[in-house]
Amino acid sequence: MSEDFIKIWEQALEAIKEEISPIGFKTYVEVMIPRLSDENTVCFLAPSNYHIEVINKKYLDLIANTLMILTNKNYIITFESKEMGVSEDVDIELGRGEIEIKNTEDEATKKVENITQPIANQNPTSNMDSGLNPKYTFENYIVGSNNRFAYAAAKNVAENPGEVYNPLFIYGGVGLGKTHLMQGIGHAILEQHPNLNIRYTTGEGFTNELVASIMSEKIENASFRNKYRNIDVLLIDDIQFLVGKAKCQEEFFHTFNTLFESGKQIILTSEKPPKDLNMLEERLKTRFDMGLAVDIQAPDYETRLAILKKKRDKERYMIDDSVLVKIATQVTSNIRELEGVFNKLKAYTTFTNNELTDEIIDSTIESVLVKGSNVITSKLIMQVVSKFFNIKVGDLLSSNRSKNVAYPRQIAMYLCRTLINMTFPQIGKDFGGKDHTTVIHACDKLTKEYMSDPSTKELIDDIKKSLSTKG
Ligand code: ADP
Ligand code: MG
Repeated sequence: MSEDFIKIWEQALEAIKEEISPIGFKTYVEVMIPRLSDENTVCFLAPSNYHIEVINKKYLDLIANTLMILTNKNYIITFESKEMGVSEDVDIELGRGEIEIKNTEDEATKKVENITQPIANQNPTSNMDSGLNPKYTFENYIVGSNNRFAYAAAKNVAENPGEVYNPLFIYGGVGLGKTHLMQGIGHAILEQHPNLNIRYTTGEGFTNELVASIMSEKIENASFRNKYRNIDVLLIDDIQFLVGKAKCQEEFFHTFNTLFESGKQIILTSEKPPKDLNMLEERLKTRFDMGLAVDIQAPDYETRLAILKKKRDKERYMIDDSVLVKIATQVTSNIRELEGVFNKLKAYTTFTNNELTDEIIDSTIESVLVKGSNVITSKLIMQVVSKFFNIKVGDLLSSNRSKNVAYPRQIAMYLCRTLINMTFPQIGKDFGGKDHTTVIHACDKLTKEYMSDPSTKELIDDIKKSLSTKG
């Protein structure tokens, strides 16, 4: 490779380092060895196929853009891999036509010889950073009908780590509060037992550390294993990341067993319940089923408003109740988005000193919601409910009082009330001009049934779930 390009790549590394996390930089970018295969093509030699997958997914644009800025040239980027270790687990899907992968066999054999090193450097992990975000405490967590059960289980685990539900498995859609609740447990345990070794990481972080430890010369993962198996409370967030990665699952399985057998608490989160994690080894699913799995649903209107009010009070941001009501009414299926609107409006008023107008509020909500999530309307609720019960939307609007129509209608009314905070007269109007007392009766009835009858709760939660994935 020409001297010039070595210099360019060094400069590129400096620039890239500023843009990404230190562990990402060290694990994936810095280890790439570039060469110019012709004057327009840079070929990177990567330690494994997995490196290429990560680079391709997360850092390729940054690398290409940085090279472009430094050289004013649009290089074609290709990869070669040393192909070893974890790469066998990873299916590489290349998103771009210009990327190709070659394996260099001699490099692979050279590396594999290193794999049988004895365990050394038994570092104690006691003063390890827990990885917890100070914001994510129980005190900052609003409890509503969507998370009441999960919260109760979390409190119970926090008070009796390793003794009640092990593992505690928290699942639910994106942005509904899994990470926050899980970390709340970590904080609460630390408060009671400051000397316990608590460790929060994500499925992705766990994978990255494993890859890094295999790549470093201390193969056999001595320090990795040592670190993870000396933990008192292990929190792994978004465990679905391990799906399809056999080597990571294997390592995790052993970590899990070691901790579990010595009575250490394990808490996991995932977007799906254990049984729906396809491509996760059966033996892991069986382990997950030994404890308790709890779900978090989309928050209802009251909870959304309470979250916004709490945030306002905490951040001492002067924003009108009416604005919060507007946000809570329209942003329905994701708490991260709810907070996103709040933060954007706050930034707007702070930086411009302007008053919030309806237009600004609407366009902010729209800008946050455009990214794929749905706005729930009475129409959408009617469509989903009627489909659920195999009747027509017209039936809900009719005055038919037979049970197979009246019950779904009551559920749909109840959802209009609790999910999007419509008034009783508005609901009556949308349901073909019913009297508001009919609506009140329906909402009262379903509120009671939701609280007292588990099968009604399950049914309504299922409908809510399909509402938050439609739209
Ligand atoms: P998930 O892990 O399910 O994707 P997070 O835990 O990251 O969701 O939550 C997204 C955001 O919403 C975080 O900022 C979190 O603090 C906030 N949040 C979620 N649930 C609640 C709640 N019940 N009370 C207060 N804030 C919440
Ligand atoms: Mg999360």
